[in-house]
Amino acid sequence: MNYLLNPAFMGKVLKSYLFDLNRIWGINEKELREYQERQIKKMIKYSYENIPFYRKKYQKAGVHPKDIETLDDLRKLPFVSKDELRKCSQKEITPSSQKNLIKTSTSGTMGKPVSVYVSMHEIVMGLLGYLRTLKEHGINWRNDRIVLLLDLRRNSAERKYLNEGVIPGFKPFFSFENIRIYSFKVDSEKLIRELDEFQPDFIGGYTGKLVNLALLKEKGFGKNVAPRVVGSSGNTLDKYLRMLIEEAFNTRLFEAYGATESGPIAFECHDRKLHIHGDLVYAEFINNGKVVSNEPGNIVVTKLYGGGTPIIRYTGINDVVAPSKEKCSCAAGGGLIKKIYGRDNWYLIFSDGRIMLPSAVSEIFSRVVYEFKTRMIRQFEVTQHTVNKLEVKVVVDEKLSEGVSTAEVFSMIKSGFYEKVDSDLKVDVKKVDKIESGRYLISKVDKNRFDHKIYI
Ligand SMILES: [Zn+2]
Repeated sequence: MNYLLNPAFMGKVLKSYLFDLNRIWGINEKELREYQERQIKKMIKYSYENIPFYRKKYQKAGVHPKDIETLDDLRKLPFVSKDELRKCSQKEITPSSQKNLIKTSTSGTMGKPVSVYVSMHEIVMGLLGYLRTLKEHGINWRNDRIVLLLDLRRNSAERKYLNEGVIPGFKPFFSFENIRIYSFKVDSEKLIRELDEFQPDFIGGYTGKLVNLALLKEKGFGKNVAPRVVGSSGNTLDKYLRMLIEEAFNTRLFEAYGATESGPIAFECHDRKLHIHGDLVYAEFINNGKVVSNEPGNIVVTKLYGGGTPIIRYTGINDVVAPSKEKCSCAAGGGLIKKIYGRDNWYLIFSDGRIMLPSAVSEIFSRVVYEFKTRMIRQFEVTQHTVNKLEVKVVVDEKLSEGVSTAEVFSMIKSGFYEKVDSDLKVDVKKVDKIESGRYLISKVDKNRFDHKIYI
């Protein structure tokens, strides 16, 4: 069915485009808070009345929508974990009245995928979050040439949102000739040749793919690829990868943060601050069971719009994120994020409870990529045997080493750990043919020995 033949839906879309897209600029704290309270109450009522999973959960916890008046009241509601959603059937997490919901699933790199259902209106709202970010960086989606490098797996949110949702749906109304969408799995050399001819004003996509393109650009490919802006999403972006991409394309990069379950969460403004899309999600940060506002914690999100599966106090993003109380001088509202530390499912732990998350480890490898401009590291695995002994296995692709010495690379990996952790750490780096564990951080240290956490 073409949703756009439905005038009520078109009306909603136009309203979204005009009001929702721009709401984040110029909104003050009080207005935002009132807006959030209104939306949260609406979503909780909707969940209680229409979604069996939420109704059962809230009844069991003894809370009722009328108990939730303010944002602080939200804490009365129990958290929802990824595992809980994973176990639900479609019937339990969607309203029976809603037809035409679209199933989207997480990639499953962090365990079994979880699926949620979205309405076409939610898809449009999600895309507005991205369009807002483009607008912030002076990219006009109607006129500028745009390239998106996306996850186009069968049930990926991006495929459902764009390739199967908005683009075919809106084709009768807009031309999308200025937008090209590629799978991030497409061969990088082939891709950069196509981009050379298309000459995009904007390239947005997965950090890893942007890094590959940047390395090819450094080697002289894609002479005419000179985007005004590049947008990175999907992975934690560290300072080395950022520098690599910005320097290779001589351009400006922004970070966009979001998740399949929640939609867009935050965007980087032109002053390089990460603003939460405070009108699309309400974010809480939990450390040791307490809500924190100025130190790193696990992000918990509540989605402020819906029609499909509501996301309320959802812990399944599994990212450690540090909120910030600072203010940005730009006109965008929404709380700020100081740093996204990334996934916390695996980590290394050192004396005094110092925790090294995957993002901190991969930063060491990013530095190698940046300094040597090399793609020779195919894979790595870090095993922590004791608090001060690490074994680092690296799969090196000799074909891509192009004169870069493995010894120098290994020495930089070692010094990376010394600088981040301790200079008396024992780090053994060795070359292996393959890695089979499927996870790249393994710690044999008993984590219960430490009662507090500091993120390195
Ligand atoms: Zn700002």
